[in-house]
Amino acid sequence: MTDFQKPGTPTDRHQLGAAGMPLNTLADYRPIPADGYGALFLPDRLAKGYHVEEINDGAYYVTSGAYDTMFVRTGNGVVLVDAPPLLGENLKRAIAEVTDEPVTHLIYSHWHSDHIGAAGIFAADKPKVISHDYTREMIQRWPDLGGERGLPVPTETITESDTLDVNGVRFNLDYHGVNHTPGNIFIYAPQQKALAAIDIISPGWSAFKHCDASENIRGWAEAHDWILQYDFKGVVSGHVNRYGTPEDAKASRDYTNDIVEFSKEALDHGQEFEYIERIGFSNAWVLWENYFNEMTNYVTKKTLEKVTDNGQTWAQRLAGADVMTKYHAYSVLEALRLEYGMVSGFEKLIIPQSGE
Ligand SMILES: [Zn+2]
Repeated sequence: MTDFQKPGTPTDRHQLGAAGMPLNTLADYRPIPADGYGALFLPDRLAKGYHVEEINDGAYYVTSGAYDTMFVRTGNGVVLVDAPPLLGENLKRAIAEVTDEPVTHLIYSHWHSDHIGAAGIFAADKPKVISHDYTREMIQRWPDLGGERGLPVPTETITESDTLDVNGVRFNLDYHGVNHTPGNIFIYAPQQKALAAIDIISPGWSAFKHCDASENIRGWAEAHDWILQYDFKGVVSGHVNRYGTPEDAKASRDYTNDIVEFSKEALDHGQEFEYIERIGFSNAWVLWENYFNEMTNYVTKKTLEKVTDNGQTWAQRLAGADVMTKYHAYSVLEALRLEYGMVSGFEKLIIPQSGE
């Protein structure tokens, strides 16, 4: 019997004690709000494994119930953004459900395999494949990302923002600078008022762990404001199970800003928490673990309990906020030190400035 098959309660299964991560159950968290399921339990999604719906004027949202993306009919070919493996062949079915047009253009939002890894299924159509330079660099550097399985290497790349015209339908390929990853571009169809901004927000939900597993937390936080600069009817975000409205994007922005502000507050008061006396300075990593955990808990409590502009707390308003806020808080606390240049009260305490 392998370790993975051993019975046991979630908390004692691996018997790691302080060396491990806690394992929780559904009952430990708030139920998902009624409108939080999006397309997950729609009859067509349950029957077919995907759900497709028109956002506006030939721009479509397609979801597996966990991963989603956007495609646009132009009258002379489909422009598709990404090809998440969780949608896979269902992407072809979804497109065929609404149009006979072939996929003539494939745009990669960013290099992460969980969003573009199934693009090989369109290789036979020989679409133009467009991405940021950095995305192509990653695909060429690491063939196991998908190149070995037919993931098309981008044929055209951009460095700065650019535009694309397909049969009179315009697309803005906007690069605002590093965010979730370097090279993560926003794809905007202005006539359709449809935006694909992948791995920044999750409409109606808290983002996935650690600011959606982002490489640059400050850029990821700022990207919420970039989304709100667009005039859009729907923003396709990559997750979780519906597209977002401007109100969804604003809620995600405000929630993120609250985490940043409460994290600054925690860092400012970093020397006042009780872990220093409790732990002492003999084991640096235990001290730093407690430093971060205590501030993370402070930020998480403040954020979840904050009564927001619609009268609800973030815990009530965003599905999974009680699961994920602590991970965002930790990432933001780290980023404040590394990316924002903030020196915490704790650091001032252990390294007194000369003359003080
Ligand atoms: Zn990603």
